[in-house]
Amino acid sequence: MADHPTTSTRIVLASRPDGAPTPENFRTEVVDLPTVGDGQVLLRTVYLSLDPYMRGRMSTARSYAAPLEVGDVMMGGTVGEVLESRHPDLAVGDHVLAGAGWQSHAVVDGTHVRRLDPSAAPVSTALGVLGMPGFTAYSGLLRIGQPKAGETVVVAAATGPVGSAVGQIARIRGARAVGIAGGPEKCRALLEEFGFDAAVDHRDPDFRARLAEAVPDGIDVYFENVGGHVAEAVMPLLNLYARIPVCGLVAQYNGADLERRDRLPGFLSLVLSRSLTLRGFIQNEFVPEMHDDFLDEATAWVRDGRLRYREDVVDGLESAPEAFIGMLEGRNFGKLLVRV
Ligand code: NDP
Repeated sequence: MADHPTTSTRIVLASRPDGAPTPENFRTEVVDLPTVGDGQVLLRTVYLSLDPYMRGRMSTARSYAAPLEVGDVMMGGTVGEVLESRHPDLAVGDHVLAGAGWQSHAVVDGTHVRRLDPSAAPVSTALGVLGMPGFTAYSGLLRIGQPKAGETVVVAAATGPVGSAVGQIARIRGARAVGIAGGPEKCRALLEEFGFDAAVDHRDPDFRARLAEAVPDGIDVYFENVGGHVAEAVMPLLNLYARIPVCGLVAQYNGADLERRDRLPGFLSLVLSRSLTLRGFIQNEFVPEMHDDFLDEATAWVRDGRLRYREDVVDGLESAPEAFIGMLEGRNFGKLLVRV
């Protein structure tokens, strides 16, 4: 007990970003840890997940979740090791999935964590392919996209944890998967590592033409991850009755393109003439009905090699702000994690 840390290092929101976040928007603090109460556990953060949605929480713009207050600890999914437990089901040494945020240690309620089985899969996968991003891909694609054998599914940010799972699950369902990513190295990984049928670089000056070549039969499902110029290139290629699960708009999170709402009339005429189905979603919505199936199926797919994943791990909590800023510019290559 005496060996336990008494303080936690944490990163808080120092100020709200105007456009792209900068290091000045974050501040590191060292605070005393509370004592562990009944039903609680003391966690040492092993991995912190960095995700695009965190950008939204840094601003006050209206969204599906309340923003952080200035001074709050940056939120985030974590894998932690139990250092002390006053919860009957959790023992010292257990690894758990928690939402402890950007901090080295935390005292949390034992009912708010899920114990992980390190022999089933590496614990880091609970934040990626077998965690929230993997479930986002699974639920949004299967429930809204509903890909059928022989159809063409297009997804961008395709080497990330959501996009890479979307493409691979589409292929498991017999569809053709076309991935869009930034740069030749990521495009190569789509073909060689993740088994996509085609890959297109959105930074290529001929992006629109390359995309059209990659989808000779048009697009039946566009899993929307990025918005911006990628979405503009995709829209004219959508087939009659195409489905568009709107999952994320990472190209727009820093505020770019948002003033161009004049394009809406043209887009709406496309929705009408091609009978498109557009449906936004936040993955929590599908947790009650689909999460158990997801864990069973995805764990089996990961084991038999049909669902592969890539992690981009940076070391040290102090690296989190730069890594997060880089993710919003496409500098990550795979699920971005901080080894704390
Ligand atoms: P990623 O790890 O894929 O990281 C974001 C990627 O977006 C970057 O690596 C980059 O990839 C791409 N990107 C960034 N800026 C641009 C741009 N201007 N134009 C095109 N691409 C860009 O993220 P995730 O897999 O974690 O998340 C993917 C999407 O899913 C996000 O929009 C996220 O917000 C959303 N999401 C939604 C959820 C929901 O419940 N609705 C839950 C979880 C995630 P590249 O270099 O290849 O362009």
